[in-house]
Amino acid sequence: MTPALADYHVHTPLCRHAQGWPVDYARVAIERGLAEIGFSDHSPMPEYFDDWRMLLEELPGYLESVEQARAAFPSLPIRLGLEVDFIPGQEEWIARLAGMADWDYLIGSVHYIAPGWDVDNPAHLARFEHGSVAGIWRLYFDAYEKCIRSGLFDFVAHPDLPKKFGHRPPGDLRPYYEPVVAALADTGVAFEINTAGLRKPVGECYPSLEFLKLARAAGVGLLINSDAHSPAELGAGFDAAVALAVEAGYAETLRFAKRTRTTVPLLAESDGTDSSKWSGGA
Ligand SMILES: [Zn+2]
Ligand SMILES: [Zn+2]
Repeated sequence: MTPALADYHVHTPLCRHAQGWPVDYARVAIERGLAEIGFSDHSPMPEYFDDWRMLLEELPGYLESVEQARAAFPSLPIRLGLEVDFIPGQEEWIARLAGMADWDYLIGSVHYIAPGWDVDNPAHLARFEHGSVAGIWRLYFDAYEKCIRSGLFDFVAHPDLPKKFGHRPPGDLRPYYEPVVAALADTGVAFEINTAGLRKPVGECYPSLEFLKLARAAGVGLLINSDAHSPAELGAGFDAAVALAVEAGYAETLRFAKRTRTTVPLLAESDGTDSSKWSGGA
């Protein structure tokens, strides 16, 4: 029932918290019947910034590792991307990065909601306990809207990341989602269902069903990605993600090549009912 999906959010050891080189992922992608894979390791900064991304001098090695995978598995489309941290003031740097390789897509991400505070880093978990969860969510979603409106990215990652450890403000969450969905609709930027949330304390995909329904109603394009930090996580949780997308009304997903998108159906007409291959991951 599920046609072959792509997985475009994949990390390599260059970010210092993932394992598996592109050749290793490509082998697993073929085993699991993925239609395409794409790499999107954490982007370099102009100078040392934190300990969870490649250094600028490592960028050529990254490009080479993707080329090696393409050479080893010529039948598999292997895309080249980056997961770029959107930080206000870094727009010029990001525009320079965009010219440094023949990217198939650039993913915009917000991890930093204030200088030195990456919201998904367990080192800052106490700030949820001692501060205002609503304040944290507001900082994040304001930054996320700026990320979308920057015009620098093809799609944006893990939309409701601050729920990672299970913290949500009380009440109606639509005031956080709505400006972001409007920004996506205005700019034509797409977003992903990211299955990494299934493997985190929150235990569900990013974003929530409610976010997805708003995005669907606004005609915003969708991708489904694993955010794999090891080959075992490739395509992980895709059954659940497809079910969530369909529940929200989605019937299509996107592919990217050379920063141009195409649309493919999410569900095949009627080619059996075997969706079990997407359960293969972690
Ligand atoms: Zn990572
Ligand atoms: Zn991320």
